[in-house]
Amino acid sequence: MVLVFVAFVLLIEAWKWYHFFRLDELPEFNRSVLEVMRQPLEDRVITISRAKYSTEYPASFMLVASMNPCPCGYYGHPKKKCVCNEYQRSHYMSKISGPLLDRIDLQIEVQPVDFDQMSSKAPGEPSAAIRQRVIAARALQERRFKDEPGIYCNAQMTPSLLHKYAEPDAAGLEKLKDAMERMNMSARAYDRILKVARTIADLEGCADVLTHHIMEAIAYRNLDRPTYLGTNS
Ligand SMILES: [Zn+2]
Repeated sequence: MVLVFVAFVLLIEAWKWYHFFRLDELPEFNRSVLEVMRQPLEDRVITISRAKYSTEYPASFMLVASMNPCPCGYYGHPKKKCVCNEYQRSHYMSKISGPLLDRIDLQIEVQPVDFDQMSSKAPGEPSAAIRQRVIAARALQERRFKDEPGIYCNAQMTPSLLHKYAEPDAAGLEKLKDAMERMNMSARAYDRILKVARTIADLEGCADVLTHHIMEAIAYRNLDRPTYLGTNS
């Protein structure tokens, strides 16, 4: 099993200008180095401060990162046995801080693909069809924000724009409230779930954010669960 993270922004500037930042084996990086990404992931700028001056540089990018679930790589594997103890697993996961995870919109466990699936001749959905859906969703967002200066995609929505464009239906709001309390999520996670849910609805061509969009967005925050390996400090 491999964990894959995407700092959403699927459908943000990165999509347009292809600014991707890919980090494999995330916990192998020094934690203090990883923490530096918190500012650009949140504000899309990097501030360099020296004794007499400070300056800002634009740093808008899509982060795609991956890691194993434990040092041996087999925790949660359907067929192989993990040889790590609880401390090793917890220590490994704790290299990724909670505040950094907070800024990552999609956190997904990817199960290993067995031989039958690999050798299957059944055709999957072609990338070209998916691309068309993304282009349509992008165009929809550009139309939505045409009167909002400097905003052209869901990822850039401010709290007031979230209220205006991504308010879920009553049942969706109730599900979100329940998940927030159960998973002890932060306000930042709340905003990001709404942005992801708005985007899922856009990909479906749905004008409103409905309960199943909210549920899907919550499901993409695997590692937000406080019980996940008992980590996230
Ligand atoms: Zn292991």
